[in-house]
Amino acid sequence: MTTTSKDFYRILGVPEDADRDQIKKAYRKLAKKYHPDANPGDETAQERFQEIGEAYAVLSDPEKRKQYDQMRRMESFGFGRGARGGPRRRGGAPGAGEAAGGFSFDDLGGLGGLGDLFSTIFDRSRADGPTQQPRGVRAKGQDVELQVEISFRTAVRGGKISLSVPVTEECATCQGSGARPGTGLSRCEECGGTGAVSFGQGGFAVKRPCPACMGRGRVPDAPCTICRGAGKVRQTRKLEVKVPAGVETGSRLKISGQGERGPGGGPPGDLILVFKVKPHHFFRRDGLDVHCTVPINLAQAVLGSRIKVRTVEGKHVVLKVPPGTQSGTRFRIRGQGVSRNGRTGDQYVEVKVDVPESLPPEAQEHFEAFTEAAGLRH
Ligand SMILES: [Zn+2]
Ligand SMILES: [Zn+2]
Repeated sequence: MTTTSKDFYRILGVPEDADRDQIKKAYRKLAKKYHPDANPGDETAQERFQEIGEAYAVLSDPEKRKQYDQMRRMESFGFGRGARGGPRRRGGAPGAGEAAGGFSFDDLGGLGGLGDLFSTIFDRSRADGPTQQPRGVRAKGQDVELQVEISFRTAVRGGKISLSVPVTEECATCQGSGARPGTGLSRCEECGGTGAVSFGQGGFAVKRPCPACMGRGRVPDAPCTICRGAGKVRQTRKLEVKVPAGVETGSRLKISGQGERGPGGGPPGDLILVFKVKPHHFFRRDGLDVHCTVPINLAQAVLGSRIKVRTVEGKHVVLKVPPGTQSGTRFRIRGQGVSRNGRTGDQYVEVKVDVPESLPPEAQEHFEAFTEAAGLRH
């Protein structure tokens, strides 16, 4: 989206520090002079009259005037033209003539909402004349956000993953021109070769890429059969990415330069990976700590035991279960959790006592003898 502003002060013929009275006086004088009643059939006068009305609507309203002044200051610094990214797409849109710097009017929310001013002016205005297009600034390509599901093991220990990233690439057949090889390009009649068309009206006109030539200003005489004249094709880019150890569901990883290509040869956007970790059949994760449940038998619970427990690093540690351990008791193994940025969590092991569902006859007899000796009533 490109916006340009008219000089409302010049239109009313007042200095930038004019007070409300001066503005009002100037408006009345000019409105009278260019009023359609006074200039029947004079289109130039009618345009001037409208322009004067727009200028007055903004400059006579202290809040709108403040916003307008702010915007003028920014334009004079070369700011002020940015794009709103759609959901999951950020960075510059492939519009014609975009300013670099990542500045967008969205950023102004806290500064007094230029959006208000724009909507006010768009609502009542009409098409505008020349616009300025920043030259020599190449917009950055869009960022691409990709959800990636990884195994529990990769999340904990890190590792390489292969990705297919959906991106728009230059068509290899026509090298992006959109013309069938061996044919040429002609000036786009829709936009007169500028690559941009204006819409919106009044003090601000918005430019967007010409839909007929997709902003290129020229159209192929015979469209390339591979990209149907678009010059670009949707493709999947194969990538190998190294996942750092310790990522969790929701962790983000930026891979510079692997987003969409920049329009007109600008730098590419970034690829943002958002991880989703598959659940593990044994381990559950809580930040850097891991939890697991290990079954022990009746004898281990009653008499105590040493059990082998698997760790997330793929090793085994020996856990001492003391005699008389209750089902549901939780043990902590220090330093066997997930490591990230030099910190390591712990592993929590909950033991669950397995009660035999049935006993062979001989064992049944012995167990009854045991309950008698132990004084267990049942
Ligand atoms: Zn092509
Ligand atoms: Zn065009």
